[in-house]
Amino acid sequence: WIVLGIETSCDDTAAAVVCSDGRILGESVAKQDELNDLYGGVKPGAARDAHAQHIEATISNALEQAAISVEQLDAVAVTMGPGLELCLRVGFHAASALAVQHGIPFLSVHHLEAHCLVANMFRLASRQQEDPRAVAEDAFQEQAPAIVLLVSGGHCQLIRRDRQGHYEVYGGTVDDSIGEAFDKVARLLQLDVAGCGGGPAVERLAAEWALEGKASSLVFPIPMRKYRNCNMSYAGLKTAVRLAVEKGSFDKGEIAFAFQAAAVKHLMERTARAIEWSKSGAVDSGDHVRELTVCGGVASNQQLRSALQDIAQKHALDLVVPPVKYCTDNGVMIAWAAIEKIERYGLHTLQVDPRGLEVRARWPLGKYVGPGR
Ligand code: ATP
Ligand code: FE
Repeated sequence: WIVLGIETSCDDTAAAVVCSDGRILGESVAKQDELNDLYGGVKPGAARDAHAQHIEATISNALEQAAISVEQLDAVAVTMGPGLELCLRVGFHAASALAVQHGIPFLSVHHLEAHCLVANMFRLASRQQEDPRAVAEDAFQEQAPAIVLLVSGGHCQLIRRDRQGHYEVYGGTVDDSIGEAFDKVARLLQLDVAGCGGGPAVERLAAEWALEGKASSLVFPIPMRKYRNCNMSYAGLKTAVRLAVEKGSFDKGEIAFAFQAAAVKHLMERTARAIEWSKSGAVDSGDHVRELTVCGGVASNQQLRSALQDIAQKHALDLVVPPVKYCTDNGVMIAWAAIEKIERYGLHTLQVDPRGLEVRARWPLGKYVGPGR
C-alpha cells in the first residue's frame, strides 16, 4: 500500500507518503514556530490561516519527493481529531478534495492513535532489514498488548492497547499536560526557545546544569502521591516552579533540573501503577501486557526515555519508542496509522465518503477503565 497522510490538528502543517513496508517515500512539514513565539502559544485563527497558506505546497512537496502522482496513491488519510477545529478543517478539506477529485479512497485517522502506532513502523522497517523475507502481515498480527504513555502538548494519558488494536484509558491529567508544563516552565525561565520549542529548551538547560555537577537544595514535591490511581497533575508543579523563580535565589538550570526530575518521576510512578493495574485482574483486559510504548512530543525527552527503560526492565516489558523526529506531530504517523488499519480491517471496510463528514475537536481514544482514587 502507498498512502498519503495529512496532519493539521495543531500548529504543524504536515504531509507524507508512506509505503506499507515501512518506507517513507516523501515527507514535508511547515512549522509555525514564529507565530507561536509571537502569540506565546498556538492561536487557533492564526494557526488556521498559516495551515491554509501552506497546505497545498506541503502536500505537493511530499508527493514530488515520493515521485508519484496522486492517481498512484491507494488512499488519502487525514487527521479528523482530536485537535483544534479550525485547524483540523484545513487538512480535512484538502484531503477530501484530493480524494473526491481523483477518485481515491478517503480514510479518517485519530490523531492520538497515530501517535501511539508510529513506533511500529520503525520496528517493522528494522526487522525487514534483518530479514527481508519478513512480510508486513506477520508484523501486523504480532502486535502485543501494550501500556501506552501518551505525552504531548495537548494530552497526557496512560492507555492500554490490546491485540486487536482497541484502547482503554487508565488515566489522564486532571489539569495540564506535561508538555504544557515544559512550555510554561520555559516561559517562566525566559529561555530562548527559537527553533526548538519549550520542552527541548528546558531539557537542554537541565542537562547543562547536571554536567556542572553543583549541589542543589531545590527539590519539587511529586504530585498526587496521596492518590493510588493512574491520573496525573502538573498545575501544582507549575506553580511551585513559578514560586521558585520569583524567589530569585536559584539558578535557572537548577530550577529546570528540579522541575524535569519531578515531572519525570511523577510520570514514572503513574506508569508503574498502570502496569500493575493491567496485571491486577481488576480490569477484564485479556492477555497480559508485554510492551511499554511512549509517544507524543515529550517522548523525545532523554530523561524520560531512560527512566522508562528502567521501568520496562523491572516489569519485563519491551520498551518501544519512536525516533525523536517522529514523536511530535508529523504526516508519517497519519499515513502509517491508516496502513495498519488497512492491513487489519481491509481498505473497503475503512474507506468513507468525506462529503458530509465533520472533524471532531474532542474524540476520546477509548473508554475510561482506570482505578478510582
Ligand atoms: P497533541 O498531540 O496532544 O494534539 P501537540 O501535537 O501539540 O499535542 P506534540 O507535537 O506531540 O503535541 O508535542 C509537543 C509538546 O512536546 C510540546 O509541549 C513540547 O514542549 C513537548 N516536547 C518536545 N520535545 C520535548 C523534550 N525534549 N522534553 C520535554 N518536552 C518536549
Ligand atoms: Fe500531536
